[in-house]
Amino acid sequence: MGHHIKQVVWPNRAYVDDKFDHHRLFSIIMTVATSITVSGLWGWDYVIDTEGAQRTIGLRLLMSGIILLHALLLHFRVPRRLTTAYAFLGAFTCQMLFIEVLNRLDHGMQAQFSGFLFFTFLPLLVMQYVPFTTGTLFMVLIIALPPAAGAIGFARDFEYVKYPLLLGPVGAMFICVLFAFEQINYTNYENQRLLRLVAITDSLTGAGTRRHITETAAREMVRARRYGGPLSVLMLDIDHFKRINDTWGHQAGDHAILAVVELCRATIRETDVIGRFGGEEFVIVLPQTGRAEAERVAERLRAAVAATPVALTPDVSVTLTCSLGVTELVDDDETVDGLLARADEALYAAKNAGRNRVSVAA
Ligand code: GH3
Ligand code: MG
Ligand code: MG
Repeated sequence: MGHHIKQVVWPNRAYVDDKFDHHRLFSIIMTVATSITVSGLWGWDYVIDTEGAQRTIGLRLLMSGIILLHALLLHFRVPRRLTTAYAFLGAFTCQMLFIEVLNRLDHGMQAQFSGFLFFTFLPLLVMQYVPFTTGTLFMVLIIALPPAAGAIGFARDFEYVKYPLLLGPVGAMFICVLFAFEQINYTNYENQRLLRLVAITDSLTGAGTRRHITETAAREMVRARRYGGPLSVLMLDIDHFKRINDTWGHQAGDHAILAVVELCRATIRETDVIGRFGGEEFVIVLPQTGRAEAERVAERLRAAVAATPVALTPDVSVTLTCSLGVTELVDDDETVDGLLARADEALYAAKNAGRNRVSVAA
């Protein structure tokens, strides 16, 4: 929980970017609605002071335009920081324009005093995409600005007593709402991140899951087709693994599987991806790698496994061997399943040829 609050107050960059993306559409809708409302509220000016209202139409339309531009920035995916900066400046400008609207109306300040409340809605509605800290900063500034405008004589007849009595509690309440929203958002984000992680990570070995490695292979297939360059796939299976389980127990077997994955990880390149295809059977996707090079990688893996004793328990070490099938993507390959099936066939050829060897698909 403490960690959680720290994240809400001091969020990481990935979360802030994610929040921006997720709230973009909602913010666009609310910005357009606000833009229409601001012009629509001219009716209020008209009711208060029919004559003075003639001189506020332009200001109202200008406010609407400033607000609408915010929706456009969001729509065209202008970078987050720029959009946020515009939202701050735009809102402050609109607040000054609103004060000028009140200046131009007879008893405007008294009659439309509650109009200042609208500005505190902005972080909850049109700026829902900013993190909690930014929303709070905005709230503080937007509440502080009108009295400051009053102090320099810009806001005529400013109500210095009523204003803090109304805006103080409302601002504090809305900051609490911002905090509550942020907690919900962050929990959602964290759950989604974990779900994604669980879906792609094998819990025993940390290698990719079968789903992940299959998707990776499919994606690399598309990439190789579009941008050219070779692609190879290895299928690795530990030899006579049942014996390990039968002799030393399932837990020792788990240890051995993990050790083999770690060896593989240390041997392949960073751009290569390893995934657990079945019990002790692994697929390794080698982007930008042709058949001859893939065979060398496979041979290096085979040699590394055969040369490295694996500790099953603190007292027992065994030397394992593994067999590998190698295949390269060819023009005729239609599906990723076909490619993987060919690697599997090559693997079985290696098994039949006596194990502890590499076989390349024909
Ligand atoms: P081969 O040389 O033909 O591959 O012989 P093998 O005994 O390794 O046969 P196979 O690959 O078909 O069998 C895999 C065995 O691996 C079966 C199962 O007992 C064991 N196994 C599968 N998943 C796990 C696991 O998560 N943990 C452990 N400890 N053992 C597993
Ligand atoms: Mg096996
Ligand atoms: Mg197997």
